[in-house]
Amino acid sequence: MSPLQPGSTIGILGGGQLGRMLAISAAQLGFDVHIFTDEPDSPASRVAAKTVIGSYSDHAALADFARHVNIVTTEFENVPAETAEALIAAGARVAPTPNVLAIAQDRFDEKSYFLSAGIATPPFKAIGSQDDLDAAIAEIGAPAILKTRRLGYDGRGQIRIKTAADAIGAYEKLGAPGILEGFCAFEREVSIIAARGANGAIAFYDLNENEHAGGILSRTTLPANVIESTVIAAQAAARRVLEAFDYVGVLTIEFFVMPDGALIANEMAPRVHNSGHWTIEGALTSQFEQHIRAVVGWPLGPTTRIAAIEMLNLIGEDANDWPQLAADPTARLHLYGKREVRAGRKMGHVTKLRSS
Ligand code: AMP
Repeated sequence: MSPLQPGSTIGILGGGQLGRMLAISAAQLGFDVHIFTDEPDSPASRVAAKTVIGSYSDHAALADFARHVNIVTTEFENVPAETAEALIAAGARVAPTPNVLAIAQDRFDEKSYFLSAGIATPPFKAIGSQDDLDAAIAEIGAPAILKTRRLGYDGRGQIRIKTAADAIGAYEKLGAPGILEGFCAFEREVSIIAARGANGAIAFYDLNENEHAGGILSRTTLPANVIESTVIAAQAAARRVLEAFDYVGVLTIEFFVMPDGALIANEMAPRVHNSGHWTIEGALTSQFEQHIRAVVGWPLGPTTRIAAIEMLNLIGEDANDWPQLAADPTARLHLYGKREVRAGRKMGHVTKLRSS
């Protein structure tokens, strides 16, 4: 593709904080951003040139959106794949393509894809009834985790099955088609953020080491405490996925690291990722700028990390500490402009850089 000129317009599906940070990076490179979201007063809309509030299934609104932008990208993976298809049918260029969105939206399809690509996963089974669940527990054993196939994030839509007795009635409680996964006794969790340009060039950021609380990312540190072969395996897996989908943009894969350093894939996100927020201050090119560069057909930027990193999410009331954080010379503070503080809601983050 020929590179988009500065002054072109980038459409972003979704109005959350990832869209907000993408829009800020796009502006830095001279692009305008139009947001399409079903949420009024969204974090991204307040830094974008224009926002269209509409339903992701409103094909007329999507077609009109498509007419006013030069390329469309997404900031969250639960944009229906049909939305991306409707935009393409209306003549828009869309990156990443709908096929990868569709796979990443369904935990069963995603894990099946990983296995077909030679990427290890926890043992898993599709669950469509309590009978399926009982049979899967008999096969996989407990402990295990029952998750909804679709629309789960940040630990939502999950039931921990510590012993077989916890499975009684669990399918009804889940309330939707699910997947049972064997519990991985991992040593740590890491993610890799990778980018592929329109010309096929690939770049990797250093591995992120991630800690979760209540299923939500709470802290990311770099360098990750892993052996070199773990890094190589993560890069190989990311390269395989990027090339298989002819992917353009930033993609993230989350892994469990086992005691011997082996990787087990948990999930992928066809987008920029919370564990990569440190790249704003800690890398020569942020993941947001990188994604914009990729989708507009510009060369990828260097991913070099310039410091040791600690990134802390501000969840719910944590954001009320902004006066202390703003006064802390070691903390780079980001607030997402969400009007209402709610428990479990990502309100902002702080990045700390240490020379080492
Ligand atoms: P998820 O929403 O699938 O990313 O899960 C959120 C968090 O739950 C993960 O980051 C892990 O800490 C934990 N988790 C999810 N699946 C498993 C598993 N199969 N084994 C062990 N821990 C898991």
